[in-house]
Amino acid sequence: MKLSILGPPGAGKGTQAKKIAKQYGLVHLSTGDLLRAAIRDQTPLGQQAEPFVVSGRLVPDEIMVGVLEEFLRKQMDGAGFVLDGFPRTLPQARALDETGRRLGQELDRVVQLAVADQVSVERIAGRRICPQCGREYHVRFRPPKVAGVCDRDGAELIRRKDDNEAAVRERLAAYHRQDDPLLDYYRKQGLLSEVDAEGDVETVFQRIRTALNGIEAAPRKRGRIATKE
Ligand code: ADP
Ligand code: AMP
Repeated sequence: MKLSILGPPGAGKGTQAKKIAKQYGLVHLSTGDLLRAAIRDQTPLGQQAEPFVVSGRLVPDEIMVGVLEEFLRKQMDGAGFVLDGFPRTLPQARALDETGRRLGQELDRVVQLAVADQVSVERIAGRRICPQCGREYHVRFRPPKVAGVCDRDGAELIRRKDDNEAAVRERLAAYHRQDDPLLDYYRKQGLLSEVDAEGDVETVFQRIRTALNGIEAAPRKRGRIATKE
């Protein structure tokens, strides 16, 4: 199964992509996580991407398309993947199609997590991250057992640098500049499942599973991912 999860910042893409990856035995690629790790390590990619990510702007397509191609090449013998945060623009979607065709890695389905902007903002405002293991919390909806501290390793939770008001406004605006053409592109190909992503994490996950029902069966028939589930 080869999926992409779309949706505004804070819609729950990372949260759901991790659950989907576990459920279906897929590799999870979060381009946001990948960029944040590159920035932390100050790799050439991280140095190029940093000013964009910190201010909430999209990293240029040429850079992101290169990142994606490298990922797809590594997955060529794999059971499948779930992309979280890619594509973000029409040129990225076209490049994914073209590279996917060339490498035999075309998407089976695109899931759009639909939430109102107000819900995005509320989820982002309460998001907290463990700087050590990357686990995500929400102060209200997914609180750690002890406030401000990671359940797994006891590290002090932090906010993402781009989860400030100005960057969130820019990220939402960037999303709304791209979402209509991107969704249309996948709708026309019959690949798009629009899922209501308001509600708790489990409720949303069950809706996604329902949306994936048809393609869940297909790989099993071909016997490709049965052992990974
Ligand atoms: P995205 O990857 O789309 O930016 P995240 O998965 O990081 O979004 O979710 C944003 C924040 O909202 C996180 O703090 C997460 O714990 C919380 N969250 C995710 N899904 C839900 C949900 N269904 N209900 C309430 N909070 C949620
Ligand atoms: P995310 O973790 O998905 O919220 O992404 C965080 C930030 O990383 C975004 O605001 C962008 O600056 C950058 N980013 C992640 N994925 C992409 C992409 N596909 N295209 C451009 N920029 C991206």
